[in-house]
Amino acid sequence: MSTMLLSDKLPYCPGCTHHHVTRQTSKALEKLGLAPQDVVLVTDIGCHGIADAVFATHTVHGLHGRSTAIAAGIAMALPAGKKVVVFIGDGGATIGLQHILEAARMNVPLTVVVHNNFLYGMTGGQPSGLTPPEFKTVVAPEGTHLPHHNLCELVHDAGAVFAARVVGLGDFSGTLAEAFAQDGFSLVEVLEMCTSYTPKFNPDFKLRQAAEAAGYALGSWTNPPRPPFRLQFGAQKPSLLSQLKLVTRKQQARLPHRLGIVLAGSAGEGVQYAAESLARAAVAGGLHATKKGSYPVTVGVGFSAAEILLSPEPIRYHGIGEPDFLVITSEDGLHWARPKLLAMRHGRVFVDASLPKPEASVPVEVRDFRTPFGAKNAALLALATVAREEALLPEALIAAFDPQAKAAAPVS
Ligand code: SF4
Repeated sequence: MSTMLLSDKLPYCPGCTHHHVTRQTSKALEKLGLAPQDVVLVTDIGCHGIADAVFATHTVHGLHGRSTAIAAGIAMALPAGKKVVVFIGDGGATIGLQHILEAARMNVPLTVVVHNNFLYGMTGGQPSGLTPPEFKTVVAPEGTHLPHHNLCELVHDAGAVFAARVVGLGDFSGTLAEAFAQDGFSLVEVLEMCTSYTPKFNPDFKLRQAAEAAGYALGSWTNPPRPPFRLQFGAQKPSLLSQLKLVTRKQQARLPHRLGIVLAGSAGEGVQYAAESLARAAVAGGLHATKKGSYPVTVGVGFSAAEILLSPEPIRYHGIGEPDFLVITSEDGLHWARPKLLAMRHGRVFVDASLPKPEASVPVEVRDFRTPFGAKNAALLALATVAREEALLPEALIAAFDPQAKAAAPVS
């Protein structure tokens, strides 16, 4: 038995050419003197994917069409001498065509073995982008009459150092070994037959004749060798965390228990900055704090909301079910916060004086956040006002971000 396989018994339907592709793959890997621990097999969704269970190599089961993308990440990070192989069907190759082309363009050192049996076997025999026009399937009993992609030519044009198409009969382990030996992107398309669905709709099907009739040229396509895309092994990269500004503890705030504050305003009015300022002030006051932002995909327009948690204890979960304070500084914020206003069973609500007093299930207090220092400072002023009125933090920590305190400070 092959050192690459754990069992002689393969899991496919009787007569399925996947048996042969699996055995030829293991033979080709052995030809190159590779050990199972040097090989990573990334399988896609489809019948071929159950090969995971029989390969003695590392195996990763991917998402439909995405196995090449997963394999590319693995291959980029592995040193030379390791081999990454993708098993994908014609359906998966159609879904993930862009991943295959990009891996070829970047010359990621991996080999894609396409099991092209002209249909999606696992889902009932539907046609793929590699199905010949006259090939009959369950949903196209007269054929699709659409041209199929020419995958080998596509990856060749994208820069693959080696691409080949073979009929999945006889010994093609030499072609597979040639592909596996490349230190760059290679692809082997194996033309196959699904014994469960092909004869049902194509009773006279013969694989070689069908390949010829479909214009599937056999052979190989090569490009001159070029450097493979591999990440520098062990290279030091600056951590994103190292760019964070450290907050120094300056005082000890007395907060008896955890408090959740929700700030709701408009994009471009400093909501996120104000929330971060309060969270930083709390950390400077020896508390634990989290801040979460929420805004639409159009970040420059519409609402902007933030959730700030302050706690004397470490925060294990940063969600706020029901806020202790809901602070609303603009019409966008009011619109966004309406469901919360009606759902709150406790807590307090502060609303800017320019807004109509909203319906709410708890008392609503009106304050002027927008007039004193303009809309751009409304969120900062609102949080500073609440923090001061509720004595959430020592005065000096609030003053550090309160526009009112800054305006009153003597010019030095
Ligand atoms: S359904 Fe078709 S492709 Fe899948 S294992 Fe059976 S014969 Fe092979």
